[in-house]
Amino acid sequence: MERHANATNGLFGRGRIMRLYLMRVATIGEDAPVPSYLIRTDEGRNILIDTGFSPAVIAASHAPGFRGPPIRDYVPVVDRLAALGVGPGEIDTLIATHLDPDHAGAIDAFPGAEIVIQRVQYEAARSGTDARAALTRANWDAPGLRYHLVDGDTELVPGVTLIETSGHVPGHQSVLVRLPETGPVLLAIDAIGEAAHADLEEGAIHPMDLDETALRASRRKLRDLEVREGVALTIYGHDGPQWRTLKLAPDYYD
Ligand SMILES: [Zn+2]
Repeated sequence: MERHANATNGLFGRGRIMRLYLMRVATIGEDAPVPSYLIRTDEGRNILIDTGFSPAVIAASHAPGFRGPPIRDYVPVVDRLAALGVGPGEIDTLIATHLDPDHAGAIDAFPGAEIVIQRVQYEAARSGTDARAALTRANWDAPGLRYHLVDGDTELVPGVTLIETSGHVPGHQSVLVRLPETGPVLLAIDAIGEAAHADLEEGAIHPMDLDETALRASRRKLRDLEVREGVALTIYGHDGPQWRTLKLAPDYYD
């Protein structure tokens, strides 16, 4: 993959520095945050992880007869990024953890980015059989988007590794970010949506989880990874109580 500015010209000057920003782009129901994450590296890379809902889905959620949980606190991810001084054209890599509507709704706002996704998830969505992915197909399948398909666990750049965690959907991926000060941070995404779901055998399976056996195997994989890597912090996909304990943008983990 293409690299941009070198370390001496990079955003943070010399030394290995990496920052992880947590941005809330909506709330589902009472308390479930919809996150987007930004990683900024000392090589001048801006890596965005997920993009939240599309404007169309937000509008539909406010229409009479909408049957889902209410969606509140919608802030477009481009606005969250603007508050950090990052324009859409400065996002060089966009990690799509999966193509559910609360994750993939603004992919088309980043036509200059290389979109990194598990091949299995992309092909499942493209097949048209995935009703949830179909809700935002106009966004993630917009003309001109550049996809980079990966197969299984993949080190994207030094310090950022994609972890294949199928089950919620096929080809779902979590992300391990090795931060210089904080240590390894695991973004579980929807492999573990809430801390209460982390229990390997008893943890709840959400109605949105398509394959319970695969999901439990993925949770075991993440638990093994936490031990092996000495993970300092695991951030769950949509955990309101945990979210209140975390540092949110413009603050960051480094
Ligand atoms: Zn989700």
